[in-house]
Amino acid sequence: MRDTSKIRTAWGAGWLWLLPRIAFVLFVAAVGALLWLSERTVREEQRAILISDVLWLEQDLRFQLSHNEELLGQIGPREAATPEIFEAHARTLLANKAGLRQILWLNADNEVKRIFPGFLDAAMVGEGQNAIPAPETLRLARSLGNATYSPAYPIVDGDWQFEVHVPVFRGGRLAGVTVGLYSVRHILNDAIPWWLAERYRISVIDTTGNHLGDRSKVEAAEDVNGYEIPFEPPGNGLSLHTAPYRTPAPLAGRLLGAALVLLAVIVLWSLWALRRHVQHRQLAEAALRTEHAFRKAMEDSLQTGMRARDLTGRITYVNPAFCRMVGWSADELVGRAPPMPYWPDEYFNETRNMHDRILAGQGPEDVFELKFKRSNGERFDVLIHEAPLIDAHGKQTGWMGSLIDVTERKRAEELAQQQQERLQATARLVAMGEMASSLAHELNQPLAAIASYNTGCLNMLESGSADPAELKAALAKSAAQAQRAGRVIRRIYEFVRRAEPKSEPCDLAEIVDEVLNLVDADARRLGVRIESKAAATLPHLQGDRVLIAQALLNLVRNAIDAMRALDKDRRVLTVAATAEGDAITVAIADRGCGISPAAASRLFEPFYTTKPEGMGMGLNICRSVVEAHHGRLWYEPNPDGGSIFRIRFPLPPP
Ligand code: ADP
Repeated sequence: MRDTSKIRTAWGAGWLWLLPRIAFVLFVAAVGALLWLSERTVREEQRAILISDVLWLEQDLRFQLSHNEELLGQIGPREAATPEIFEAHARTLLANKAGLRQILWLNADNEVKRIFPGFLDAAMVGEGQNAIPAPETLRLARSLGNATYSPAYPIVDGDWQFEVHVPVFRGGRLAGVTVGLYSVRHILNDAIPWWLAERYRISVIDTTGNHLGDRSKVEAAEDVNGYEIPFEPPGNGLSLHTAPYRTPAPLAGRLLGAALVLLAVIVLWSLWALRRHVQHRQLAEAALRTEHAFRKAMEDSLQTGMRARDLTGRITYVNPAFCRMVGWSADELVGRAPPMPYWPDEYFNETRNMHDRILAGQGPEDVFELKFKRSNGERFDVLIHEAPLIDAHGKQTGWMGSLIDVTERKRAEELAQQQQERLQATARLVAMGEMASSLAHELNQPLAAIASYNTGCLNMLESGSADPAELKAALAKSAAQAQRAGRVIRRIYEFVRRAEPKSEPCDLAEIVDEVLNLVDADARRLGVRIESKAAATLPHLQGDRVLIAQALLNLVRNAIDAMRALDKDRRVLTVAATAEGDAITVAIADRGCGISPAAASRLFEPFYTTKPEGMGMGLNICRSVVEAHHGRLWYEPNPDGGSIFRIRFPLPPP
């Protein structure tokens, strides 16, 4: 479920990132297309204008040339009769600025008769057709009877020239030929209006692609944009080539283009910045999630209950440990205003008072104890510490309480107290045992003495020869013995009263040796073989060596007792003391009669005994001693027959 949603989120995030990229690419493409289209429209418009301009120019030139033809045709023999009239006519023609640079008059015999501007030189006046530059054209004009143009040919200064030969007829007869010399440079300079020259570079080219002349301000744009049109009527392969100047793009267009590019850059940059921002956010979110998971794990593992309340006392947060403690769920508790369900009825007033004091900021600064109620009605003790809850702006928003359930601790303390008391009682019991034997031993003498003094006095009284002085001395001695017995009792009593368990380092191997030495004589007498497997060195225990020795002694005695009825060769007692990790174990094993399951369940009860002279307190005292040392004593049947009593003493931490 979670995986699918993760995949879906990843898909969503992928699209989220792909979409602006696609949009950006489309945007750039659209801007490019727009710029290209507008550029193309401008070019097409320019080209249309160029073509119409060129057509107009061609028309104009044609018109001027044909007009010149007409005017040249009007010069006849009469006009050429005198140089002055011819010059006046020629001057008018040249003043038209139609590209003519020189006019010649040839008579019917092809002799150059007049020339303007310039002077007739000998070469020209010579043999007819040879005297003019294009005799072929002249011949053609004469035979056709129409104005005819010569091919262009180079003249001085890189200029080119062509001629128009106009035959003039008078009365149906050829009267002569007027020849007009056109300079390409003159045509370009005179016949092309200035406004056209401002826009285009206009060139005249021949069939081989030679540039015969240019009219241009500056370098023209690439030739691809140029337009070529045949330059008729010269008809000798001349063409007009017109190319627009490289005009800078209009300012508004350039500004628009720059704005679009800038916009695209800004969009790209903002996308990149957004992406960086989102990446930062994602990193921060991931860190926050990790932190949150860590805190949640920490909260969940806490054994201390946590409870937050706002300034009105309403619960705003509880952790799982608190819920476990009181038995109500977080949903049931969060949002609850006082009185709380975990306030016990019998302590309601105290709890309410404490609650009000805390909210008023007058609660105890240190920890304090209260009684709370679980949802099952059980009461328990909690140790509480309240601290003000401060938010990110340093403002107090409520109170945070940490609560520890101390019921178990209290119970453990009580148990420890009881154990201590039991131990003391045991110590007294052991001491009493000692006292009893000491009493028996110590009182034996004075009592025997008192008895013998009494017997002596009685004997004296019975014989009738009682000497009062002797009687008195005997009774005084008897009284002295009684006082001695009293002192013995008092001393032992004093000892018993002060007997308290000690806590000192004890070597268990040493204690085992001591106990086995004590029973050695008895064991020999009864033919019991003792096998001691106590390790030479064992870690030291902390405790009362006398009590531990008493307990071991009792177990060893019981084991020897259990083997009384056996064959002598089977009477083996094994005592093993070993260190196992953080504990020392002592096992006392015999091959005796063993213990039935029914008896085993009652072994440690006080006064349980199967022996006629037994008290049945031994094992009970033994267990008290072992438990007082935080150990354990238990019984196991011996697999080889008989019983094993095991003691496990935990070692103090290193
Ligand atoms: P007592 O020795 O005065 O009877 P204990 O408490 O020492 O009191 O022992 C209680 C009883 O447990 C004994 O009477 C005996 O029946 C049984 N018992 C103790 N140790 C052994 C043992 N090693 N083998 C068999 N029975 C035992």
